[in-house]
Amino acid sequence: FANLMDVSFADVISKCMSLGIMVSINQRLEADVIELVASEFNYEVEFIDVDTHNEIDEEEEEENEEDLVPRAPIVTIMGHVDHGKTSLLDYIRHANVIAGEAGGITQHIGAYEVQVKNGRTITFLDTPGHEAFTAMRARGAKVTDIAVIVIAADDAVMPQTKEAISHAQAADVPMVFALNKMDKEGANPEKIKEQLAAMNILVEDWGGKYQSQEISAKKGVNVDELLDKVLLESDLLELKANPKRPASGSVIEASLDKGRGYVATILVQNGTLNQGDLLVSGQHYGRIKAMFNERNQRISSAPPSTPVLVLGLNGAPQAGETFKVFEDESEAKDTANRRAQILREQGIRAKKHITLDEIGRRLALGNFKQLNLLIRADVDGSVEALSDSLQKLSTEEIAVSIVHQGVGQITETDVMLATASDAVIIGFNVRPSLQASKIAEHEGVEIKTYSIIYDAIDEVKSAMEGMLEPKI
Ligand code: GDP
Repeated sequence: FANLMDVSFADVISKCMSLGIMVSINQRLEADVIELVASEFNYEVEFIDVDTHNEIDEEEEEENEEDLVPRAPIVTIMGHVDHGKTSLLDYIRHANVIAGEAGGITQHIGAYEVQVKNGRTITFLDTPGHEAFTAMRARGAKVTDIAVIVIAADDAVMPQTKEAISHAQAADVPMVFALNKMDKEGANPEKIKEQLAAMNILVEDWGGKYQSQEISAKKGVNVDELLDKVLLESDLLELKANPKRPASGSVIEASLDKGRGYVATILVQNGTLNQGDLLVSGQHYGRIKAMFNERNQRISSAPPSTPVLVLGLNGAPQAGETFKVFEDESEAKDTANRRAQILREQGIRAKKHITLDEIGRRLALGNFKQLNLLIRADVDGSVEALSDSLQKLSTEEIAVSIVHQGVGQITETDVMLATASDAVIIGFNVRPSLQASKIAEHEGVEIKTYSIIYDAIDEVKSAMEGMLEPKI
């Protein structure tokens, strides 16, 4: 770093110290520290490959318009437990086997493709629920284009329904609502729509923008209509990809199989994946020996939005890790090895997330515009009071955004959402579960708990004014 700027090590170290950051000569600096120090020396920093994930987003921008073709939407089904997510996935899997094909979908590989009307296809992620969705997002993957939120019409909008909605919103993923169990006595879809409206979610027949469809997942009633609405939503998104380029995408799941070695289900999001391609995901790489679809048929190439099971990697990448095809073998190896080295050095420590203490420093960098908070409290009244007061702290410089709020203990899922959204968790009269604390520590997510509402508000306010002293 010092060499690049043509200054001495000592200058960099003393600059760091003057900023309150104690460093030694062979220490890796965090990205924002590098930016800050560089700006002190009048340099601007451009990061090329700063972390251990592949960077697929940036490359998408380089795409040539004429190479782009429409691609199928990738859909995740979310909702409260027992509201019918699995039943819906199962129904769609069985009902929409490609015409004339015997056997249908024979294996669960984590995602499947179905053919719907007019030869169009939809790709479903086969792990329902917002937990999996957000865990993948926290690893860097953006794999869902549309979320179907299932709500049992004989029940109500439940805590996990609200979570699912918050998680989809935090990811900026459009939602289509499936009001399920319409075959049941006591199904009351109007009540559900009213409850959604109370959360500021207006469905179309209430004059809002969200599509909803009454269905019975068990009997398969109106599921086609639901899929039509998913396609409509997909049309609005104008999803496109370039099948001509080398493939990139995300890992859905991976494991070690006794007979076959490392097996990974991956979702091709851009480009076309071919047998024999050299693939790198995180610290793992390998040439694709064979590829299979969810019907256990061997395939030789996979265009965008296709889930495939691949053999040939030298390890099992994490779910949500992105992947990229490389042309050059030594470059692929170097990339994977360099990531492995960084991971070893960091002790698999994840990227550090925002903390209240840190806000001052990020403000000084001038690129901090939004403070994301996740609120948990013991009773509904406190949740509302905290949420209102904290949102009111928004200024012209920083907007306070509540990514999720809820009653009860701070959960693992909350921590994953905070990880994916770079949020601080604020707890009032509640504590994190043991597992949540562990993950928070591992992911570098801050959990602040309070027993006086005023203290919480005051502390966030001071942080936003850059008044909290950074802890070193
Ligand atoms: P999940 O926890 O959201 O995945 O819910 P499941 O799909 O496992 O469904 C929970 C229960 O509701 C099961 O007993 C299903 O048979 C039942 N169920 C799901 N959809 C329907 C439906 O449309 N009508 C009726 N009557 N029962 C349903």
